[in-house]
Amino acid sequence: MRVMKFGGTSVGNAESIQAVCAIVRSALKARPVVVVSAVAGVTNALIKLAKTTSATERVRAQKGIRRTHEKILKDLRLDPTLLENEFNELADLSKKTKKQDKKTLDHFVSFGERLSAQIVGAALQKMGVSSEALPAWEIGMITNDEFGDATPLPASPALIKKKISALKVVPVVTGYIGKTRKGRITTLGRGGSDYTAAIIGAAIHAEVIQIWKEVDGFMTTDPRLVPEARIVPELAFEEASELAYFGAKVLHPRTMLPAMKAGVPVQILNTFNPKEKGTMIVSNFNERKKSSRVIDALTYRKNITVIHIYSPMFFDGNKIIADIFDLFGDYNVNIGDIALSVASVSLVMDSNEPLPRQVRSGLQKMGDVTIDTRKAAICVVGGSINTAGVAGRMFSVLEKNRIHVEMIAQASAGYSITFLVKKKDAEKAVKMLHKAYISV
Ligand code: ASP
Ligand code: MG
Repeated sequence: MRVMKFGGTSVGNAESIQAVCAIVRSALKARPVVVVSAVAGVTNALIKLAKTTSATERVRAQKGIRRTHEKILKDLRLDPTLLENEFNELADLSKKTKKQDKKTLDHFVSFGERLSAQIVGAALQKMGVSSEALPAWEIGMITNDEFGDATPLPASPALIKKKISALKVVPVVTGYIGKTRKGRITTLGRGGSDYTAAIIGAAIHAEVIQIWKEVDGFMTTDPRLVPEARIVPELAFEEASELAYFGAKVLHPRTMLPAMKAGVPVQILNTFNPKEKGTMIVSNFNERKKSSRVIDALTYRKNITVIHIYSPMFFDGNKIIADIFDLFGDYNVNIGDIALSVASVSLVMDSNEPLPRQVRSGLQKMGDVTIDTRKAAICVVGGSINTAGVAGRMFSVLEKNRIHVEMIAQASAGYSITFLVKKKDAEKAVKMLHKAYISV
């Protein structure tokens, strides 16, 4: 079986829904399980609706959401009353709701996927594909009660497998939502439809989980910066995660974890350019290595802060490192990278926000602290990056062009190298490396 997940833009209007249906119909032999996001913009509109206190504003917001979907029904020539139950339930909810807790918010936003799944299900039917729209809880998506950021219960995958195997038609499942054991609607966190697809794909041991978007896949670098950038055909999960962390907004790696743990590959594809093969993300870096080029892709991130701490305490052992990490952990500050020397430690924080006061003063008690917000991080991934000489050649290309490199960190498994350059040199460095290693 194959999971085919379509994002908000892919189900954004009648025309794109028709493209989605054509893609699904051409894949019937692979026994697809379709997962959909809400129509683009609808989740945000529902959140706004849920948070509005004025009654007239609420009615207006509701009408807007209704109009968006009615237009799609009309353009697809589907039954205009198809969504009446959902519209009524939503109207009821908005009328009754007084308190805006997370539970209520999840109930509100669940309508996005419930509406889009019905539309796609009906559009497939109209094309002659036997299909059925199903809220995820009907195929076993049972979650904990962490509203707004729920996780499926350990018993959920087996249930999903059982329910899906019993289906006779193509299911169109709502992404992003589930229910607790007690029957309360939950959501899996923003962008959670990819997570739904990964959970289902892992549960049924799909041959592949396809994530259909409005981009061709992971690119060798940002094509706005380097017009010769091209699609990366294959990446290991670790590489995709590094690229995503450093700015490639193709997918959120955390949501892919269930798939990677189950060894199910994830393929990124473009609904609007379905002939393109996209990027295949495989779980096993060692498997992929052989076919890889030296450098497969690179990206950069400018919103970082570098913190250097110099202290004689470093000579005294590692306790100070533990203290530093504790301090960051206590105030939920994420550290993306770290470099250690005998007398100092340098940390890269993945934001431009000022360091929380307590963290700064805590660090100042440990040593001399300098904070540098003028650097950018560049991340390079590839199957042979730890081959002798690769890193050296890379840095000599940069140094020759007077781009000074700092804080080089190499992933121990050898799939990436990250380093810092001055912010103003970031684009130039990316262009130069792309030219030297990828465009050639
Ligand atoms: N509709 C939800 C969101 O916008 C989930 C998703 O699109 O994946 O966050
Ligand atoms: Mg969305």
